[in-house]
Amino acid sequence: MQSKANYFTHLECSQTGERYEAGEPHNLSKAGKPLLARYDLDKMKDEVDRGAVWAREGGFWKWRELLPVVDDADICALGELDTPLIDVPATAKASGATGKVWVKDEGRLPTGSFKARGLALAVAMAHSFGLKRLAMPTNGNAGAAMSAYASRMGMESYCFAPEDTPEANLREMALQGAKVFKVNGFIHHCGALVGAGKDKMGWFDVSTLKEPYRIEGKKTMGLELAAQLGWRVPDAIFYPTGGGTGLIGMWKAFDEMEQLGWIGSERPKMFAVQAEGCAPIVKAYEDGARHAEEWLDAKTAAMGIRVPKAIGDFLILDAVRESGGAALAVSETVIETARTRCARQDGLLLCPEGAATLAAMEKAMGDGLLARDAECVLFNCGSGLKYAMPDGAVALDRHGDVDWGAL
Ligand SMILES: *Cc1c(COP(=O)(O)O)cnc(C)c1O
Repeated sequence: MQSKANYFTHLECSQTGERYEAGEPHNLSKAGKPLLARYDLDKMKDEVDRGAVWAREGGFWKWRELLPVVDDADICALGELDTPLIDVPATAKASGATGKVWVKDEGRLPTGSFKARGLALAVAMAHSFGLKRLAMPTNGNAGAAMSAYASRMGMESYCFAPEDTPEANLREMALQGAKVFKVNGFIHHCGALVGAGKDKMGWFDVSTLKEPYRIEGKKTMGLELAAQLGWRVPDAIFYPTGGGTGLIGMWKAFDEMEQLGWIGSERPKMFAVQAEGCAPIVKAYEDGARHAEEWLDAKTAAMGIRVPKAIGDFLILDAVRESGGAALAVSETVIETARTRCARQDGLLLCPEGAATLAAMEKAMGDGLLARDAECVLFNCGSGLKYAMPDGAVALDRHGDVDWGAL
């Protein structure tokens, strides 16, 4: 069954441009770089109306013509929705911003993070190829999304996570049917295990950017954002950057939309946000390098961006530089302060990675990298509920005298 027109034509090496065929599973290119999906946008331009697509239900699955999935039978759906853009006026004002500041709250997606976008696509494509067993390294949210969608499609999943991954995520993965392993190392060490076990275990490696379709799922953030703003882009996007899939994906989405005539040539300034305790992309950006060196002794509570080495480093850095944005690092202290402030002043609970984008916006404006009246979109990539929170509760003895004035 092929219910929607499909324009997916082939894959291309992101470094050499070498062509790879659709219709069979791929990991990295022969050059060891990520593969990017390509579409017949000329044909699609004449046949597909952006308004008709945007009017559909189904969250990110509505963008079928710009996704690689051909058959409806491969679609794995768990109640996907368009994530809201929420304004945070009090927080923005306290940060010194005078323009509109939006939080795109990705924590509302199935499994509580934007990893759902990427993994739904990766699992759907794996299903279309008849793959039965998937494996990945994960800092928590990716494994949660993979396990849910894999189980939904009757596939096995293996998750390798650093041993200090948030407990909520580890248990969520296991409960959703994954085999979960706590590894004494960082995410790239977990990735090495996935690679090492591949022949023996016969699993397909779904690591960030090591298969071509997670980025296609993450791309839908760019499509959705432009549609929500009335087919235009904001002045600036702040993206908490680990492997960088979302940033690279949105940048790709803007190009595809321009080729379709859905938006013009304007682009947001892309800010890649990292924590000071793990900032390989920021270091490469500051050094003027195109590739990032592995960050040693990575340390941050923002687990989603605790990624010491990213295979798509050059794609992140190219997009940031082309856009006129920057790569910025923020401290653990300002991340925590930002999270507390947004929760207290605007009632919106951010995950630490999302809070990092708020801190980075403040920094960018303070350092003169961005006008104070710029319209900004901050990505809150996951639910704040999965992370440790400070204990603010006071014990109260119901049998004793309550000192009401002291509450
Ligand atoms: C994975 C993750 C990130 C980083 O996303 P990338 O696209 O890999 O850079 C940021 N925040 C959260 C909550 C995540 O789960």
